[in-house]
Amino acid sequence: MKDFFDVTLSELEAICSPFPAQHVKTLFRSAYKDYSREPWLTPGLPRELSQKFAAEYICNRAEIYQESVSRYDGTVKFLVRLEDGALIESVLMPEKHRITLCVSSQVGCAQACSFCHTGRMGLKRQLTAGEIIAQVMLARAWVRSHPEWREERGFGPRLTVGNIVFMGMGEPLDNVEALKRSLQVLCEPIGPGFSLRKISVSTAGHLDGIKNLLEAFPKVSLALSLHATNNRERSQLMPINRRWPIAEVVDYLKEFYKDQDDRSVLIQYTVIAGVNDTEAQAQGIVDLLKGLPVKINIIPLNVVGPSQFKGPEPESLERFRQYLYECGMRVMVRYSKGQDIDAACGQLVVQHEKQQATSAIGL
Ligand code: SAH
Repeated sequence: MKDFFDVTLSELEAICSPFPAQHVKTLFRSAYKDYSREPWLTPGLPRELSQKFAAEYICNRAEIYQESVSRYDGTVKFLVRLEDGALIESVLMPEKHRITLCVSSQVGCAQACSFCHTGRMGLKRQLTAGEIIAQVMLARAWVRSHPEWREERGFGPRLTVGNIVFMGMGEPLDNVEALKRSLQVLCEPIGPGFSLRKISVSTAGHLDGIKNLLEAFPKVSLALSLHATNNRERSQLMPINRRWPIAEVVDYLKEFYKDQDDRSVLIQYTVIAGVNDTEAQAQGIVDLLKGLPVKINIIPLNVVGPSQFKGPEPESLERFRQYLYECGMRVMVRYSKGQDIDAACGQLVVQHEKQQATSAIGL
């Protein structure tokens, strides 16, 4: 069976031809606006078309396997089960007037950044575009069916997930074709209707992927995980730096953003005590990014389980922020949400699998 969520609007038009285009719209609306899992059963569609889809397609192969709601901030972590049994995570983050979903792009990750837990899993497999979209549709359906969660945060009945960040498990640009296909569907006005600017793709610095993505979707928001600015230090934390040294990535971005008025790159900098938190390192950020419009988020490292690394003391984090601020950078400290439900950055490892593995060996 094929996945309906994998199909773009123009492909759907080709599949449905010679039936009139109005049926294509009906199918798309029913799947993406009404959350139907059998959009081909919508009244008014020609029987032949309905039968063809019923025989060949399913709409959404994924399901919410487990959900945890943070008592602190209302963050919801979903464990999503895919058709082959693989588990991934997405995190729903309520903010003041909007709801953001953090999605996964791969099962595991090949990048092996030394401080990241997903990195330790290695890459299990790529997600399909349909599986990326399924995370969004499952989260939107969840929001719709949880009025008490919305009311508690003062959200009106029509507010839903309007922002997406590709900051869950995986390196999205190691899965760039599926990523691009998912963006195409997610931004379809008669479908999910996202605005490209409200989708942020976060990368460890995959230069080929950045070029590929920005050529196809120049308006998508880009987030770059920096964490260190000189090659020796950065390559130790992030092996991808050996393939694409950070200066090359930043040079390309400077060129790209030079005539993109009012756009900026989000820089993520995870602060690790004694590793990347000195004044000299803050100055390195200022020097490297000169000439690139950026906003910087500094995130204290989250430590999960045994780790060679430690998060920073609040005072040293504040000193680091202050230094950047005084150099004229737009900088914010971001604390990970959902700390009590293991939803924080770098914690998106599938605990469930770990628990099962430990109980299987009698621990
Ligand atoms: N591969 C992509 C997106 C996934 S990670 C990327 O590297 O950007 C999303 C963000 O969480 C990245 O900035 C990553 O460096 C950060 N992160 C990973 N582990 C973390 C941890 N333990 N504490 C804080 N941030 C972490």
